[in-house]
Amino acid sequence: MQAPPEHPSESYPEIRDSVRKLCAGFPGEYWRALDQERAYPTAFVNALSEAGFLAALIPEDFGGSGLRLGAAAAILEEIQLAGCNGGACHAQMYIMGTVLRHGSEGQKQRYLPAIADGSLRLQAFGVTEPTSGSDTTSIQTFARLAGEHYVVNGQKVWTSRAEHSDLMLLLARTTPKDQVEKRTAGLSVFLIDMRDALGNGLTIKPLPAMVNHATTEVFFDDLRIPKDALIGDEGRGFRYILSGMNAERILIAAECIGDARWFIEKATRYATEREVFGRPIGKNQGIQFPIARAYAATQAAALMVSRAAALYESHADCGAESNMAKLLASDASWQAADMCMQTHGGFGLAVEYDVERKFRETRLYQVAPISTNLILSYLGEHVLGLPRSY
Ligand SMILES: Cc1cc2nc3c(=O)[nH]c(=O)nc-3n(C[C@H](O)[C@H](O)[C@H](O)COP(=O)(O)OP(=O)(O)OC[C@H]3O[C@@H](n4cnc5c(N)ncnc54)[C@H](O)[C@@H]3O)c2cc1C
Repeated sequence: MQAPPEHPSESYPEIRDSVRKLCAGFPGEYWRALDQERAYPTAFVNALSEAGFLAALIPEDFGGSGLRLGAAAAILEEIQLAGCNGGACHAQMYIMGTVLRHGSEGQKQRYLPAIADGSLRLQAFGVTEPTSGSDTTSIQTFARLAGEHYVVNGQKVWTSRAEHSDLMLLLARTTPKDQVEKRTAGLSVFLIDMRDALGNGLTIKPLPAMVNHATTEVFFDDLRIPKDALIGDEGRGFRYILSGMNAERILIAAECIGDARWFIEKATRYATEREVFGRPIGKNQGIQFPIARAYAATQAAALMVSRAAALYESHADCGAESNMAKLLASDASWQAADMCMQTHGGFGLAVEYDVERKFRETRLYQVAPISTNLILSYLGEHVLGLPRSY
């Protein structure tokens, strides 16, 4: 008889084991202290870089480990399962994909090896703007070609990790929206060296938020960037950004699975140990069943994440699966978060239990990098053929 397929959580056991060992050095106290000070987890990010985990997806030719997407997903899942927060640096893994797929040979040689060895950080991605929000093609930031330079003006919001990155991948308009045939045309992608740009037309302002995510507002005021900062062809940037989104969705979904597992483990332990009315609270089905339900939802979502990753790896169309993976996994992690909070009663709100921190952190995935409604709208329109809603 053929053995049943291995469960997604059992894939890449050696990688998972190494990530677990690394994360053991960064326990709850570490994250709580950072959370209180709204500080960046530099030591954690350095440790991940030195171990090569953030270079997982960079091909070996450019100094990375050339691993498959499923391996990168396993790394992020384990980080979250250990109670750590990959949001501090996950983008270093995948933003470079735009350079890898659409950059010139010169750009790849110049940037990828340095990103792979961690000496260059590319983990800022400037897409969202205050006035356009989810309507990406309506962004206002404009890059005008002037001789050997582009001159950039505009503003981004929620640009995470900009203060902890050397480079930023920027999406800007290069042709006004009312002068293009399709609204997705006339957008371009640039790789900006923020070390040169800061104070010379680029300003970064921290944006305090519910989660410690090092997120910022970024202002461009006649910022001159060299012409060769353009990635690929001018005007095709929206397509380039879209091509990286499936990978991003799958990796974020894997983080959600890690979070969900953390909540389930934490709740199971507490429900077994905590005694009220002379017996463990886990004996009450009102406590036990929500844990079981969260577990079932997480296992189902993990299968979709694994399916999406497998399709991605085989270069098959995976738009629907990647979006469903992100939807189901973020729903599972939020369900598990709520369950874990309730299982802990008042102690769920006590900072020292880490439940409230993870609860806040996993709530983010309902909104970013894409909000749940926009995924539902994608499925409605592109998968089910329902009328376009916007
Ligand atoms: C902590 C954090 C970090 C982030 N990091 C980054 C980053 O690094 N880079 C970056 O570019 N962005 C980043 N973002 C931005 C994030 O991608 C956006 O917040 C998200 O895409 C939603 O956009 P919005 O906030 O403008 O909401 P809006 O677009 O204003 O939407 C508000 C609400 O309306 C709903 N809605 C809007 N239009 C429709 C519709 N047609 N049908 C149904 N519902 C609709 C949305 O689903 C949402 O619930 C980050 C956000 C946060 C909070």
